[in-house]
Amino acid sequence: MKGFLTRDAQRLKTLAPLCPCASALSTLRLCALALSFAACAPISNNSTEPTPLPPTPTTVATSPVPPVVLATVTPLPTLPPLPTAGPTVTAAPEDAPPTPGTPCPDQACASAAEHFWLARPVPPDANIYVDRTYGYGSTQQGRREPHHGVEFVNPTGTPVLAVAPGVVVVAGDDSLVAYGPSTHFYGRLVVVRLDERFNGQDVYTLYAHLSAVTAQVGQTVMTGDVLGLVGQTGVAIGPHLHFEVRVGRNAYTHTRNPELWLKPLTGANNTPYGALAGRVTDLEGNVLYDLPVVVRPLEVGEPTRARYITTYARETLNGDDVLQENFALGDLPAGTYRVAVNTTTFYEQRVRVEPGRLTWVVFKVKAPGE
Ligand SMILES: [Zn+2]
Repeated sequence: MKGFLTRDAQRLKTLAPLCPCASALSTLRLCALALSFAACAPISNNSTEPTPLPPTPTTVATSPVPPVVLATVTPLPTLPPLPTAGPTVTAAPEDAPPTPGTPCPDQACASAAEHFWLARPVPPDANIYVDRTYGYGSTQQGRREPHHGVEFVNPTGTPVLAVAPGVVVVAGDDSLVAYGPSTHFYGRLVVVRLDERFNGQDVYTLYAHLSAVTAQVGQTVMTGDVLGLVGQTGVAIGPHLHFEVRVGRNAYTHTRNPELWLKPLTGANNTPYGALAGRVTDLEGNVLYDLPVVVRPLEVGEPTRARYITTYARETLNGDDVLQENFALGDLPAGTYRVAVNTTTFYEQRVRVEPGRLTWVVFKVKAPGE
């Protein structure tokens, strides 16, 4: 088993950039287990974007609180060092996920529910693409905690920017208060409550694993204001920004898929990309968790690779209030795609992604094993 662990640790280091999730130790255990079922294969980076810079190789952490690596040049004020040990506090149990609403029945409903409000949380010359190997709701083939946000893989010290106007409500670290599943999880972080409300609810954006925090609680921020610097504090493998959107409450149980909130990027000929969201249920309408979904380009105006994603892994990952989707993809070049779901039967639909718009697709399938 020791050999397995060693090889796996090596693989973890070379794999795409990764984020927070349970402790690295338990990740190793999971992975070792997965290897014995031959399920711990490397994940191809099925993105259309340029491959982001690989993270600086880091030692796989052996404690829930890995050593803090500070930016080498940090002219901005920094917080005192994070405690390297201390009691771990779990998030309050009363933070139950919101009750799911009625799903969107059709495209008209989905179009009316669009809300691409947010700018990118890193500067244009940084890696502005969402990491495709660990999207919202993904468990990375069972190796990690279901992901409550998305990653922007960037070197330590990259500025982290406010994505919309708002007020800073958290600026510090999570050594005393659990903003994730436990304390010492997100490391240094900032949370901004947006000025704009959504269906009468507050919207929060969370920026985690920072090497330095420069925002202060109570500060008013505009889009593009610097909040801190990319790092890998808390439970993180390699420097990256973990970014979340939370609706209704600033709670780990109230996240939504950021890909449905970020303004689509612009591709060839200045054409905006679009987004795709969908819902996969069994024949009775029950949501199916962690099911593979493949999105293949058919006729698309620029070179685009297939995307391999999964439906949200469990009920703690929320669909959008109106959509109630259980998978979503942003930044898709406009064009025609085949969307496939494979259970015991193969299901496929053709969809058209329009520039700057959200496309909606619904699958009712025989559940695996039915
Ligand atoms: Zn993350």
